[in-house]
Amino acid sequence: MPATRRLFFAIDVPENIQQQLVDWRALHFAADTGRPVTAANLHMTLAFLGEVSAQKQQALSALAERIQQPGFTLTLDDAGHWPRSRVVWLGPKSTPRGLLQLASMLRSQAARSGCAQIPQPFHPHITLYRQTCHSVRLPPPGFRWQWQVNEFVLYESLFERGRTRYRPLARWPLGQSS
Ligand code: ATP
Ligand code: MG
Repeated sequence: MPATRRLFFAIDVPENIQQQLVDWRALHFAADTGRPVTAANLHMTLAFLGEVSAQKQQALSALAERIQQPGFTLTLDDAGHWPRSRVVWLGPKSTPRGLLQLASMLRSQAARSGCAQIPQPFHPHITLYRQTCHSVRLPPPGFRWQWQVNEFVLYESLFERGRTRYRPLARWPLGQSS
């Protein structure tokens, strides 16, 4: 059997904002909310690829390399709880067009390369908690983080010693913001 890797395309959260999110989370959520995602693992998935062979990884990377998209400003000013998937998330109230275009390109390239894609529309989000309790009290509105997104990343998801860790395999720049 050929070796495979569990891969996904994502946007990073800058380190200073990772720390701010973790500090804010500790202040605004109950201790029993769920399993907090560690600071270094905070990310926004653009396209999930699943288990991918080295050959397919190369093909998908070659397609990603050709993407020419402007960067965009990402604002986190919305939060929610999805009880069915048991996650609490942060995301933008209004999705930048550049983010939608980038995700839709990567998702369609993945689908055309044979990576099964969930049929749901893209809901940009950063997961803060997994395995949440039944009813989560969300923080009051008024929070806001913002940064310029200038690149996207191909990550490998590893499960080692009982922990999930993401390893960046490649990064591609986005162009000047439009
Ligand atoms: P863990 O599964 O250990 O709790 P995780 O969900 O972050 O951690 P992965 O399952 O490898 O790790 O997922 C990597 C990223 O891809 C996450 O953002 C996850 O939400 C997303 N993802 C996982 N499975 C799918 C899927 N079937 N469809 C869409 N996105 C997915
Ligand atoms: Mg998972």
